[in-house]
Amino acid sequence: VPPSLAIARAAPAALTALLLLSPARAEPPAAPSWTYEVVVAPGLESMSVRLCFPGARPRRLVRAAGGAFEGLRPSPGEPQAEGFDAEAGSWTIARPEATACVSYDVDLAALSRGRGMARSFSRGVTEAGAWLLRPAATQGGERATLRFRLPPGHRVSAPWAPVPGGDDASRAYELDATTWAFIGHVAIGSDLRQETVPASGAALEVTTLPGPLRATPAGVRRWLEAAASAVASVYGRFPRDRVQVVVRPVPAGSGHGHDPVPFGSSWQGGGAALLLLLSERARDEDLPGEWVAVHEMVHLAMPPISHEDAWLSEGFATYYQEVLRARAGFLEPLEAWRTLDAGFERGREDGGDAPLAEESRRMRQTHEYLRVYWAGAAIALLVDVELRRGSGGASTLDGAMRRLTERHGGAPRFLAADDAIAEVDRYAGRAVFRTVADAALASSDFPPLEEAYRWLGLARERGALVAVPGAPGAAVRDAIVARPSPLPLPTVR
Ligand SMILES: [Zn+2]
Repeated sequence: VPPSLAIARAAPAALTALLLLSPARAEPPAAPSWTYEVVVAPGLESMSVRLCFPGARPRRLVRAAGGAFEGLRPSPGEPQAEGFDAEAGSWTIARPEATACVSYDVDLAALSRGRGMARSFSRGVTEAGAWLLRPAATQGGERATLRFRLPPGHRVSAPWAPVPGGDDASRAYELDATTWAFIGHVAIGSDLRQETVPASGAALEVTTLPGPLRATPAGVRRWLEAAASAVASVYGRFPRDRVQVVVRPVPAGSGHGHDPVPFGSSWQGGGAALLLLLSERARDEDLPGEWVAVHEMVHLAMPPISHEDAWLSEGFATYYQEVLRARAGFLEPLEAWRTLDAGFERGREDGGDAPLAEESRRMRQTHEYLRVYWAGAAIALLVDVELRRGSGGASTLDGAMRRLTERHGGAPRFLAADDAIAEVDRYAGRAVFRTVADAALASSDFPPLEEAYRWLGLARERGALVAVPGAPGAAVRDAIVARPSPLPLPTVR
């Protein structure tokens, strides 16, 4: 079952009850398209994978992540071994009469030096797409089941939906279509600390990797609960059922800086996932209300946006990291506006010469992160202000975020910014986002905020940003960062 993106306020309670009470009417779960049996060797040197096809046997296998078969080879005695071309990243099933299964070995030590979340990790953390082979030709929507057989004392963390039952030695999962579309990671080890943290309607499956930590398990729990709760205030609940959270202790300083949480990333391959680096010096009281977990959880609440449109995904996450911390009481309202304003200033100074659309496309090469993130955050502010100003507060960026998640969340494909813009403008009933985005993306200047600042009543006095009482948009300014009133409970008849 893909992660439910049902939103508490949007899901009629009566419909939910009907579905629960009428199991005979529910669709039976589709048979898996294929299955993996993964035996992990003691010492985490390698894994042996047996991949079986209960239905039509494929002609050719490729890596889920694409590319050469680095660290993979057919198992000794595998009858289909001659069709295996590591360099081309292609395994031709030349003798379809032989068997409906193939077996291959994975060099875990080599793959743990990989990319994504696995980069700079210790042995036992891999990008799943680097060792999951799948048929080259797919229809879309294929799903699989996977079972790990672990050495004694070992545990696994995966983004996939667990199949109930099993024990520490044998864990099974259901892999949905997002497994093949996006990056996901698996951690295996004998020294993983694991805990399920219920947070605002989601189950956070937290795995802490080995390493010294000053923060306690209870402190880590309160930190993640606070971040999930801040994001849930937009949606009524945290809009994913299950989130794989991997916390990696890191030394303070030496490239990691002195922030309590020096880095985070989010992933949506096979399910929602977070990687958070946690400074070994961070104390419990440093954690609730820090911005990295909030930022990454906003990404997980949104549909995955195309990489070239980073201005949208990063801009919205950057805007909301400050707005939501203010709403949750971690920042005073004026402090939130000053933090946003300081970010806009950094984005302005970081400006490249190219239009924002191009800076966004080339961000991973040019490293103009500050420009793209904060210009995107300025666009988010301008859209939020225009939505509220033009609707008397009936439309907001929160409403637009809920609409994007309802309509596009959980899909096994990236959402292009153009489609997100069109969706938000259908919600608004007019071309609000299109107008703001077109002007900003075509310009090499930072999005102009002067008019919005004047209307909201944000002014500079002796260098400091102040809130001007009585400005025409003062109520909107205050509403953006105000604590939300409690949501009405759904009526159950
Ligand atoms: Zn981000």
